[in-house]
Order: sequence, then structure tokens, then C-alpha cells
Amino acid sequence: MNLKSIRLYSQEFPVVESHPGMWSGNGMGRSSQINGILINSGMPDEAKITTLIHEVLHLIADLNGLNVNNSESEIATLSNGLVDFLRSNKEAAALICGVK
Ligand SMILES: [Zn+2]
Repeated sequence: MNLKSIRLYSQEFPVVESHPGMWSGNGMGRSSQINGILINSGMPDEAKITTLIHEVLHLIADLNGLNVNNSESEIATLSNGLVDFLRSNKEAAALICGVK
């Protein structure tokens, strides 16, 4: 995926791709064990991208004290909806990102 970090709330968070054996038996990504995002390196780029969005939502929830740690399906619903919105509305996504 070649993404080393993300910025959120004026902070920089590392994005690390690694084998899940180092941090989980069956996960696609993590945001709580490190101050950043872990992505399962064994997935296709498409899955890495959707996992990145999923983990960003976990990070937003964690940083704001939202109690969604046990609401994996809710985070998945929100992240899948956000990915669909961005991909289905490229003009809106460009506006949001400040791309002319
Ligand atoms: Zn999750």
C-alpha cells in the first residue's frame, strides 16, 4: 500500500503493515495496540485500503473516548458505508480533499 503514516486531528500516526502473527491471530488491522494503525500485510491492496478506513474510524472513536471497542459490526458498517460514499461520489470526495 506504500502508506507510512496518516494525519488526524493535527497528529501523525504511523501506518505499519505487518504479519498478523505479531499482533493477532485473525485480524485485518488494529489501531489500539500502538499509537497508529497496523494493517495485515498478507492482504490484497483493496482489502488494505478498506481496513485502513476501518482502523481510522476505530482511532477516531478511541481518541474521542467513544465506547465502541466492542461494536466491531458498527465500525464495519460505518467504514463500509464511508468507502462506498467516497467511491460512489468522486466529485464530492475531491471537494472534501480540496482537489480542484
Ligand atoms: Zn475493527
